[in-house]
Amino acid sequence: MPGPGLGGAAVMAAGTPDQKERFLSRFKGEKPVWSAMAITEPGCGSDSAAIQTTAVRDGDQWVLNGTKIFCTSGLMAGDPTKSNGFIVVWATVDRSAGRAGIKSFIVNAGTPGMTVAKCEDKMGIRASDTATLIFEDCRIPFDHILGSAEVPKTSEGFKGVDGDLRRDAPDRRRKRARRRPRGRSTSSARSSSVRTFRFATAPPCTSSRSSSATSWTWKPICKPRGSSPGAPRG
Ligand SMILES: Cc1cc2nc3c(=O)[nH]c(=O)nc-3n(C[C@H](O)[C@H](O)[C@H](O)COP(=O)(O)OP(=O)(O)OC[C@H]3O[C@@H](n4cnc5c(N)ncnc54)[C@H](O)[C@@H]3O)c2cc1C
Repeated sequence: MPGPGLGGAAVMAAGTPDQKERFLSRFKGEKPVWSAMAITEPGCGSDSAAIQTTAVRDGDQWVLNGTKIFCTSGLMAGDPTKSNGFIVVWATVDRSAGRAGIKSFIVNAGTPGMTVAKCEDKMGIRASDTATLIFEDCRIPFDHILGSAEVPKTSEGFKGVDGDLRRDAPDRRRKRARRRPRGRSTSSARSSSVRTFRFATAPPCTSSRSSSATSWTWKPICKPRGSSPGAPRG
């Protein structure tokens, strides 16, 4: 469905008044517009502190590099032939700082260096696309960062990313967010849809991630019955 979605929610929660005007006013027009949030990567899902996508400051620009997967409406928000949308991308400005170095950035549809690489062929949830996005030297203006560019010396969780969303949330959601373990993003709350997706696509064993979005190495989670010496059969 068109609309601000998760990307617009992030701008609403953590954007400056100027960013809200620039990025959210496009949803008021006649034409349908999408936005999306890109957190998940081939090497990290619920553990979003492990994000590898980088944002390096170069003068008055940020340069993004990395791969994002499972991005809801990534095609409709990222492809300029589909809509005048945008993607909010989580990336680290300082890997050594851990989760404190992770910031979110607004990337307009059609920005050179951002490619919608593929869309998942899903068994369900077909009302929206679920896309892989590749960022290769993708340059965006410096003021497309949501929140502060400063990296706090001590870890303060996802400040500027999840932290700012929590600060601006209504009381009830803020209380619920406080109960969530620190360092895990709100995306882990989507685990039930994830389970559905995983069961639809995975053989009955666990996986360890490789660097490619499509390649997985499968490891059995337990030995087959009767495989150890002396184990009872049947
Ligand atoms: C339809 C769909 C739409 C999506 N849309 C988006 C989107 O718009 N943007 C985006 O960034 N991502 C999106 N995702 C990705 C989603 O956010 C991730 O799949 C989710 O964060 C979980 O990551 P994972 O799939 O890598 O699972 P994993 O992190 O590998 O987790 C697998 C399972 O293990 C459990 N688990 C993981 N760690 C622990 C732990 N420490 N303790 C106990 N249990 C644990 C999880 O609850 C889950 O059941 C989407 C996924 C789907 C299926």
